[in-house]
Amino acid sequence: MAFVGENEDLGGKLSLISTKSGGNILENKNISKNISKSEGNDLILRLAARGTPLIELGKGYPKVMIVSGVHGNELPPQIAALNLLEKIQHCKLRGTVYMIPFAAPGATMKNSRWFNGLDLNRSSSSKGSITNNIVQLIQMLNVDAVADFHSTKLCSNPGKESVFCSKNPCPQSHEMGIYITENTSSELICYSTAGSMYNGALEDECNIKGIPAITCEVVSENGEVTVGSPERSYLQMQSYLEHFKILR
Ligand SMILES: [Zn+2]
Repeated sequence: MAFVGENEDLGGKLSLISTKSGGNILENKNISKNISKSEGNDLILRLAARGTPLIELGKGYPKVMIVSGVHGNELPPQIAALNLLEKIQHCKLRGTVYMIPFAAPGATMKNSRWFNGLDLNRSSSSKGSITNNIVQLIQMLNVDAVADFHSTKLCSNPGKESVFCSKNPCPQSHEMGIYITENTSSELICYSTAGSMYNGALEDECNIKGIPAITCEVVSENGEVTVGSPERSYLQMQSYLEHFKILR
């Protein structure tokens, strides 16, 4: 992980997780027209051109992580992450918030689900993949909980606003799922055991390694921003932070 520096505009520390994943986010017109112009956003976009940016806000425990853009063509959570960052960057936080607004900027630039031929939410157990780098980082930083934000088109899987979680081996995954679904319009989708459906999801890989994790979905057309979808994703993120009493 390359440390880039502390920045007052963001009120936090900036790092690059991978220098192989960069891309010009603004080339994706569907996302660029939904990103507000600010010094903080400019800074993150410049960093994203070089790789996967990590923003660290606050300090101490609990340490929670928000990830979006694991699927580059799922735009609402990536917009929501920037909006959340703008909202909380100068707030006094209880604990540490790690944010990865664009897991694979190169995939977001191309408005693609795939990055270098990989579905990054099926390859987090594969050495060398960006999501595997993220899992290693989560372990290195002693992160307490991870939430991975996606969007789903209607009539697909899951095709509805929802939170995926599991009961084993991390019952806290289920607890996070219950809290967020009780406080938003999302439905709970709970599996008995993490990773039992398919391999390599970031959420499952974290749970299997003992780090409680969930996946949150809002409804939006792939590669587009359905009206209201960034706001719904934002509410899920906010609820996740509330569960850990991060926002004072
Ligand atoms: Zn996805």
